[in-house]
Amino acid sequence: MEQLMRDFFLFLSKNKTLTKLAKKYGLRFGASRFVAGETIEQAVEVIKQLNKKGLAVTVDYLGEFVDNEKEANEMANHCIEAIQAIGREKLNSQLSLKMTSMGLDISDDLVMRNMRRILEMAKEHGVFVTIDMEDYSRCQKTLDIFKQLKKEYDNVGTVLQAYLYRTEADIEDLKDYRPNLRLVKGAYKESPEVAFPDKKDVDDNFKKIIKMHLLNGNYTAVATHDDAIIEYTKQLVKEYNIPNDQFEFQMLYGIRPERQEQLVREGYTMRVYVPYGTDWYGYFMRRLAERPANVAFVLKGVLRK
Ligand code: FAD
Repeated sequence: MEQLMRDFFLFLSKNKTLTKLAKKYGLRFGASRFVAGETIEQAVEVIKQLNKKGLAVTVDYLGEFVDNEKEANEMANHCIEAIQAIGREKLNSQLSLKMTSMGLDISDDLVMRNMRRILEMAKEHGVFVTIDMEDYSRCQKTLDIFKQLKKEYDNVGTVLQAYLYRTEADIEDLKDYRPNLRLVKGAYKESPEVAFPDKKDVDDNFKKIIKMHLLNGNYTAVATHDDAIIEYTKQLVKEYNIPNDQFEFQMLYGIRPERQEQLVREGYTMRVYVPYGTDWYGYFMRRLAERPANVAFVLKGVLRK
């Protein structure tokens, strides 16, 4: 049943008509629990509140699968606006973005131009930029672009997904770039030909790649809400004397906020991924796919109205 619901919401997440309708009608159905607002001003207020609690942030202007140049350029402008706001308001925040919103599906030239514009501005304001990882079909291209950009800029990192068979090899392949990587389980629907179908295998691989990347001496962001993975990381860094400034934990805005604050109290860097913008639909559907309790929360909200 859980798998069926997961597949259903992942299927819905790709629906273009619903994506357009969602943009038009604004944040609905309890999405504001997971999305900080539709404007940069609203996002800034949320970031300030999180920073006050000792939580670091990575802010994301929502958008993906852009199919025309004009929109890709506008998306990049929004990212630049967010970087300027981080600088102006002196926020403890990085930036996250999706390459398909920068023109990945349109042309290499376009995506590189937009990424360089963003990274120049980010460099000026001392802001680190993480390139989110999307579905498997874009993985190789995303990593190729990341490698190219990493030769030109220090302030860029990306994400690897534990559910992919290829990820262990990618950790090795990227090692010499000394990359700051966010490690996650993976949020898209993938075929068993490319990804572990069983949760247990994903969890085992997650632990394996966390260990590899940390022991390679590279900065590691462990992005998960899973206590078992968090405990594993804590034990590992203790066992190998890995300093607190070589890793951090990350969670999504609106998910396990008490646990986020608890990790700060324990002395760890805890970064919250804060999405904002009008293109909230796909992101929201992936959160519903992850956890039946999130669906129950939304249904309660809808029924109360
Ligand atoms: P899950 O297997 O979903 O959850 C494990 C356990 O965590 C649950 O059994 C439960 O005990 C606990 N838990 C989870 N949610 C709750 C809750 N609401 N309340 C209480 N307990 C809970 N995916 C990508 O594919 N690409 C990306 O670029 C990407 N970036 C991400 C950035 C961040 C900061 C984070 C946190 C996730 C990102 N993801 C990304 C999503 C990720 O791949 C997973 O889909 C998502 O994090 C869910 O996996 P999980 O590790 O939290 O574990």
